[in-house]
Amino acid sequence: MNRILAGIIFFLFISTGYISFLVHERQQELQKLTHYAASWSVAQMASEYYRFESLLGLYTIDETMTLDDVRMRLDIMLSQSDLMKEGDLSNYIENNKAYHALAFQLEKTLVYLDIHLERMNRSELQAYLKVMHALDAPLGRLSSGALDKDINSINDANIKIKTLYYIYSATSVLLIIMSAILGVLIFYQNRNILKAHLQVKSLAEALQESKEKLQVQNAKLEYDVYHDSLTEMNNRHFFWENLNGTIENAVKNNKSVVVMLFDLDRFKEVNDTYGHDVGDKLLRQISQRLISMSLTSGTLYRLGGDEFAFLSDALTESSAVSQAQNICDVINQTYTIYNTIINITTSVGIVISDTERRPDYLYKFADLALYEAKNDGVGKIKVFRQWMLEKLQESRVLEHDMALALTNKEFMVYYQPIVDSFSREIYSYEALIRWNHPLKGILSPDSFIPVAEKTGMINEMGKSVLEMACREAASWVIPAKVSVNVSPVQLSSKAFAGIVVSILNETGLPAERLELEVTESSIFTESNTPMNTLNRLRALGVKISIDDFGTGYSSLSRLGRLAFDKIKIDKSFVNTISTQEDTLNIIRLIIGMAKSLNMKTVAEGVETEEQLKRLQVLGCDFIQGYLFGKPQPDIDKKIRNG
Ligand code: C2E
Ligand code: CA
Ligand code: CA
Repeated sequence: MNRILAGIIFFLFISTGYISFLVHERQQELQKLTHYAASWSVAQMASEYYRFESLLGLYTIDETMTLDDVRMRLDIMLSQSDLMKEGDLSNYIENNKAYHALAFQLEKTLVYLDIHLERMNRSELQAYLKVMHALDAPLGRLSSGALDKDINSINDANIKIKTLYYIYSATSVLLIIMSAILGVLIFYQNRNILKAHLQVKSLAEALQESKEKLQVQNAKLEYDVYHDSLTEMNNRHFFWENLNGTIENAVKNNKSVVVMLFDLDRFKEVNDTYGHDVGDKLLRQISQRLISMSLTSGTLYRLGGDEFAFLSDALTESSAVSQAQNICDVINQTYTIYNTIINITTSVGIVISDTERRPDYLYKFADLALYEAKNDGVGKIKVFRQWMLEKLQESRVLEHDMALALTNKEFMVYYQPIVDSFSREIYSYEALIRWNHPLKGILSPDSFIPVAEKTGMINEMGKSVLEMACREAASWVIPAKVSVNVSPVQLSSKAFAGIVVSILNETGLPAERLELEVTESSIFTESNTPMNTLNRLRALGVKISIDDFGTGYSSLSRLGRLAFDKIKIDKSFVNTISTQEDTLNIIRLIIGMAKSLNMKTVAEGVETEEQLKRLQVLGCDFIQGYLFGKPQPDIDKKIRNG
């Protein structure tokens, strides 16, 4: 299209130039017409000559005429003859010999007269008329010849002008056609341009729309990056970014950085007992409460799961603790989810530092404080202190020592009797692990079991306790059972049932004499492994007890569906059985429930006769406690073989 347009425009340019050239040519031809006046001059001269002849003739016969008239005519004639020497006429005459001679003759004739006129008489002039008459015919021929030539010239010019006119007309028509084509092409071109313009416009609109969409998406993405999808709270990522910012601010303004970590107590049990849907709803309600607190001294985050955090650079230690307490008070208020009332508490770890500026260290310190708070029970607030770090380092040393202790066989088992509450006969011995530390002496399990569970060493440790206990029990003369504690970590291992079976085979202890003590939390997990393991062992004859009953979150209905042999009532209940009416009722309830589920009950931590009496009244089957014997490394000789 562009090539065609360029071609047409070029053609138009050339045509316009050519038309200008034609106009110039025509102008030239017209000019020529005005120049060819030779015929007229010759005719004029010839007629003047004839008039002069006739006047001269008249003079020779008319006496009344004066010579002046003749002289005037002669002068006119002389000036006429001069014309033959100039311009186009002279050219015309020069080119013809006959005309040239005629011109010479004419001039000679007139000049003679000019010189002699006044001295000549009438008769002499009459004679001279004859001389002049000889020129009449040649002058007539000259005149008609010039006329012919002029007519030819005019005809030629006419033909040329006609041709020019045709070319001009054709070119003009072509020009008009080309202009029309140009117009059409320009119209199409314009239409295309308009189309393209519209397309560009709609493209720009689409672009704008997608840009806006992208902006919305970006904003959402950015929001998602920094917010938790379940609760809409600021998330962990945001926490770490803001922790860096808070530190920078604190450094600039010479302030303390405050990091608080909140961890819900027993949230897992809520999840296990009521389901994850309730757990999620609880987290959402907690977050809503936290958001609506609209704290100005710092920012709240959900780090994940049941962990929350608070960051500030505007608090002192005491104001930080009271802020933490406020947050806990808000979280700890009762929740109603699907008509179920749920109570929850929160543990808090806080670090307040104006010297430590490393974010990961600050987080670790707050986490250590939280760990201590958790260790201390539920709903506790702890501020980080240096000794916590030292304790951590100690536990690292402990981990190292423990690994050595396993190979050095420093672990041993103490036995504590469990007796029939009425006959006081020994029913079983509970195997309780002790660490005979080369430097620290005998260590109680509370000081190392958590570390062993954390590192996974509990698997090996538990296996060796089980081995020692079964070997020991197999050597007894009385068929008392042996109760062995099993950690949740062990129970979650698929290999555990196989280990128990092979130890029973190795030691020769009948399965019926082995009792495994498991905690509620180790059974109520998402995995089926603990329950499958226990069912398999139970089918072999191994007895299963629920340890520390009452401290967990087990719902009675759920417990009924699982087949256990015994419930061990936690010693915290037994402790207060004599002093608190509530406790007595709880123990009564537990014993009643166990009976209806065909389970036996054991009361732990019985230290006094009064406690024993109350438990007997409530119908508790077995008793364990200092009243009947502390855990001992050696079993009474009477029941030992040999
Ligand atoms: P537990 O299973 O509840 O064991 C009973 C704890 O109560 C024992 O503490 C025992 O010495 C103590 N106790 C018994 N009678 C009384 C009493 O009359 N008064 C008081 N105040 N305490 C009494 P111990 O031996 O320190 O064991 C602590 C915990 O360590 C055990 O609690 C058990 O959960 C764990 N544990 C012990 N041995 C093992 C083991 O071999 N494997 C695993 N996984 N855990 C073990
Ligand atoms: Ca136990
Ligand atoms: Ca217990």
